[in-house]
Amino acid sequence: MLTVNAIAATSATDPLVRTTIERRDLGARDVLIEIRYAGICHSDIHTVRGEWGDVSYPLTVGHEIVGVVTEVGGEVSKHAVGDRVGVGCMVNSCRECPNCRAGQEQYCENGNTGTYAAVDRDGTVTQGGYSTHVVVDQDFVLRVPESIPYEAAAPLLCAGITTYSPLAHWKAGPGTKVAVVGMGGLGHMAVKIAVAMGADVTVLSQTLSKKDDGLGFGAENYHATRDEATFEALRNTFDLIINTVSAPIDMASYLGLLRLDGTLVSVGAPPEPLPVPVFALFGNRRSFAGSGIGSIGETQEMLDFCAERGIAPEVEVIGADDVNDAYERVLRSDVRYRFVIDIDTLR
Ligand SMILES: [Zn+2]
Ligand SMILES: [Zn+2]
Repeated sequence: MLTVNAIAATSATDPLVRTTIERRDLGARDVLIEIRYAGICHSDIHTVRGEWGDVSYPLTVGHEIVGVVTEVGGEVSKHAVGDRVGVGCMVNSCRECPNCRAGQEQYCENGNTGTYAAVDRDGTVTQGGYSTHVVVDQDFVLRVPESIPYEAAAPLLCAGITTYSPLAHWKAGPGTKVAVVGMGGLGHMAVKIAVAMGADVTVLSQTLSKKDDGLGFGAENYHATRDEATFEALRNTFDLIINTVSAPIDMASYLGLLRLDGTLVSVGAPPEPLPVPVFALFGNRRSFAGSGIGSIGETQEMLDFCAERGIAPEVEVIGADDVNDAYERVLRSDVRYRFVIDIDTLR
């Protein structure tokens, strides 16, 4: 076992504290990663506060991890000491079910193993990236291209792939009109990626407070959803709507914005069910869909795509002692657009 420094939650209500955690001994197919940066995802907060179900404490979260390989097991062929690498939202899957065999391990029929707060296949509870080191099976480790700075690469491992995957699956590109609902960590990446794919992008945000940023990221249009006129003006407009908001939305209004065969995809998860008026789906043969992160293969494709197109998240780098403040600011939407912890402050 390797004992490493970490930041952990000790209960659903107490602030996170510095502590140490154990990492497993390096297996033949494992990679030891010295973590450089870890992003703060809203899911981390939901999880440590027990809002998505009971978890066991102490718990270290973080599933936007980047660092450098410092040791590899005897059978590791995909990564070498010194490589720049990343780890996202999952660290294992069954590898045998139809979805795993099809390279869609995020949809493993036996459940993929989350990077934290999940029971791994050896029976231990996984611990995330707010930590100096992590041991991960080589098949769940991504290559981070040289041209993406470490700190900017971190949020790509969750916010990046979560938005890239539906944009690619529903074929955002030249000639398609894409709307992005919400301009937070996920939303701002959805805008940058959809623009890079060649789509005509519109941002739908509660207010116009981030309009300059949205247009700066390449969006053609930016509308306030608090303004009722927005929904009238944009009726029957979009091929694809990526909804990144994790609060309930009025489905009839948003579905009405889709043109023929358009799809509204939710990647934000409100805790309560969303009522969908079926008549809004009849018109224009519309679809309502969901999408969960992306496969390891697609995550690598996304990292390479972002490197090629020179796009990266907007980040605010913080120290290990700023995490509790950062959580409060995330909850107030007071971040442009992703906090990233400098793990050197934890050594
Ligand atoms: Zn996340
Ligand atoms: Zn599987």
